[in-house]
Amino acid sequence: MKVYNTLSKSKEEFAPLEEGKVKMYVCGPTVYNLIHIGNARPMIVFDTVRRYLEYRGYQVDYVSNFTDVDDKIIAKAIEEGVSAEEISQRYMKECQKDMEDMNVKPATIHPLATQEIDGMIEMIQTLVDKGFAYPASDGTVYFRVKRFSEYGKLSHKNLEDLQSGFRSLQVSGEGQKEDPLDFVLWKPKKEGEPFWPSPWCDGRPGWHIECSVMAKKYLGEEIDIHAGGEDLIFPHHENEIAQSECCNGKPFARYWMHNAFLNIDNKKMSKSLGNFFTVREVGEEYDLQVLRFFMLNAHYRSPLNFSRDLMTAAKNGLERIQTAAEHLRQIQKSGRDGELTQDEEKLLEQAEEFTRKFQEAMEDDFNTADAIAAIFELVKFSNTQAKENSTRLFAERLYDVLQTLTEILGFSLEVKEEILDQEIEDLIAQRQAARKEKNFQKADQIRDTLLEKGILLEDTREGVKWKRV
Ligand code: AMP
Ligand code: ZN
Repeated sequence: MKVYNTLSKSKEEFAPLEEGKVKMYVCGPTVYNLIHIGNARPMIVFDTVRRYLEYRGYQVDYVSNFTDVDDKIIAKAIEEGVSAEEISQRYMKECQKDMEDMNVKPATIHPLATQEIDGMIEMIQTLVDKGFAYPASDGTVYFRVKRFSEYGKLSHKNLEDLQSGFRSLQVSGEGQKEDPLDFVLWKPKKEGEPFWPSPWCDGRPGWHIECSVMAKKYLGEEIDIHAGGEDLIFPHHENEIAQSECCNGKPFARYWMHNAFLNIDNKKMSKSLGNFFTVREVGEEYDLQVLRFFMLNAHYRSPLNFSRDLMTAAKNGLERIQTAAEHLRQIQKSGRDGELTQDEEKLLEQAEEFTRKFQEAMEDDFNTADAIAAIFELVKFSNTQAKENSTRLFAERLYDVLQTLTEILGFSLEVKEEILDQEIEDLIAQRQAARKEKNFQKADQIRDTLLEKGILLEDTREGVKWKRV
């Protein structure tokens, strides 16, 4: 299996540290708002990488953090007049709901930065003790970049270029640094902000240290894959490497994987530019599996422009697969009993070719676009070869192949039944009428039917309210 490694800028043969096991860390979101579909790209892409590795028989330890202490969270908390914890907890839950709707599997562990402060203080102390970090007089602790000769190896920047770039960017208030390249590991508290005691001052950690600490705690000093969006290469991942390798004295991650941006009109989708759609908004218009299909229809290292046309194409593509699955389900019910015919056995052998093509695509740095093309070939084959007079067994076998491949990409073969607001209102009216007639059995049945469709009813003083759950 070949994996493109940002460190070497080339595709490398994948060989994990420990046979049969993969230790994987993916930088997660900062939880201060609903996530946008740009944030969803790494979630979908690396969930698919994980699923394929699991299909290949690896046991994958998948760790992805939530950054729950950060300037943006604090700003939002001040704006709403609530605690930072309330903001981060709220948006973490919302994010988990979006992930579930996009069929992104929960990580093995989702650590929270605020729960790992002791580990961060410990790592910073080690870096200070080893001479890789220093506290300034105001209690800020900086990493001494020039002490790490390999700094820049991930982003392929050399120190001199960085130095001249930084000199022109140097801002006031940073005068306590020994060198403009040095970055913050710990910073003093400001009025009204959450803080923790430390040997240097009451304060909070810098962003980069959290990932070094969580990766070490939950996966070990050396890990197989470290991943995230390409905007994280510099400075975030470069700094993580510096911290981890100087602290542990070992190489940190073997393979660094980065997804390209999701764009709008060729510009990166981002909160700060305001050119974003939240996953929640898109979910109101489309089943979020369509979003997943749209993302995986491109290679993860290619920039991808979001457009309605491409979403429509994705919707049609997914429907084509689901319709083929429905056709096979029908034959499983109405087809002939008995063993496979000789012809069917031959056809099933032929169908193995699609699995082979699918695997070949995925083994080539997770080329999901070609993997989807292989699924379409299987769909076409199945539509023409599975007929009313086929055996049930034949349809079952083909269905299994289709299901295995689509599950690796995280698509479901079942069509999600959409329930419209009007249908819900009608059912609620019928339930009210049943109650009036004292037909409580019918009323309860309607409530249960709605719950199965993900609609929870609440009887309140102002009448019946409903929400999607
Ligand atoms: P953030 O919450 O901004 O730290 O981002 C969380 C993750 O989403 C990181 O891995 C980012 O690289 C990624 N990300 C943010 N915006 C985009 C985008 N427009 N396209 C692809 N990935 C993105
Ligand atoms: Zn990170």
